[in-house]
Amino acid sequence: MKDIAYINNLPDITSVTPTICELFQIPRPPQCKSREITEVVKIKNKILNSKTIQKALIYAPDAIGMDLHIKFPTEFNILQTNTHIQLELKSMIPAKTPVCFASMFTGTTPDNHGIKKYEKPVLKIDTLFDVLVQSQKKVAIVAVKDSSIDKIFRERSIDYYSESYDNEVTQKALSLLDKDYYDFILIYHQEYDDQLHKTNPYSDQAFAAMKRHIHSFFTFKEKMNVVWKKYNRMILFAPDHGAHLDLEKGNGDHGLNIPEDMYIKHYYSFYENE
Ligand SMILES: [Zn+2]
Repeated sequence: MKDIAYINNLPDITSVTPTICELFQIPRPPQCKSREITEVVKIKNKILNSKTIQKALIYAPDAIGMDLHIKFPTEFNILQTNTHIQLELKSMIPAKTPVCFASMFTGTTPDNHGIKKYEKPVLKIDTLFDVLVQSQKKVAIVAVKDSSIDKIFRERSIDYYSESYDNEVTQKALSLLDKDYYDFILIYHQEYDDQLHKTNPYSDQAFAAMKRHIHSFFTFKEKMNVVWKKYNRMILFAPDHGAHLDLEKGNGDHGLNIPEDMYIKHYYSFYENE
């Protein structure tokens, strides 16, 4: 298996919030000083003839890092060939789930949002969800109960769906899409992360979970393209961090400043209303 190497000057995951704000043409959260990825906006403009995004679905599978793309290129080929943009990004230090998703959805670093280790307090600073609500967008978060995403974005005027595990999350998200009520849906899955900690990042169980996450993205993409076809829409594949094999423990882990943990890939697709 090939190893991942250091890459210079990657944008980091704080760019997700300003990029989505730009795509929706809404103001970013006041504390977000991070810049949008202009290339993403340019490609959206090209595909949508400069029209604004009306509906977005973000699929966030936990711990799917760039390292997996290098080790299992065949499995990721479908993502590379069936999305409009693939973007290499750096995660946050430490690469722990609540730290990373707090940064991704506030557009700020841990010094600003305050989550610097594995803990799940409700975030007090403005998030992407707050600015979406302020712009009259209806927002839903569908996540596994008690996961970071389920907990740190609470106490906002959005709808929270806490499900027992990934399959239930999928079923709930598909039924919400069918109702065509929400403008923005964040969907979180965690099986790969659970498996890498239990076994290792490349075990059969972890590999099967990884493949299920890739497949889930396409399940949501196909559904979205049916139920949201009259809207200008987007889908984003947005994991939080990667993982490595801890040789001493023999299990997978993450949280170190190494390429396996820090480098991830996001995929964007845009579709014009029909
Ligand atoms: Zn995670």
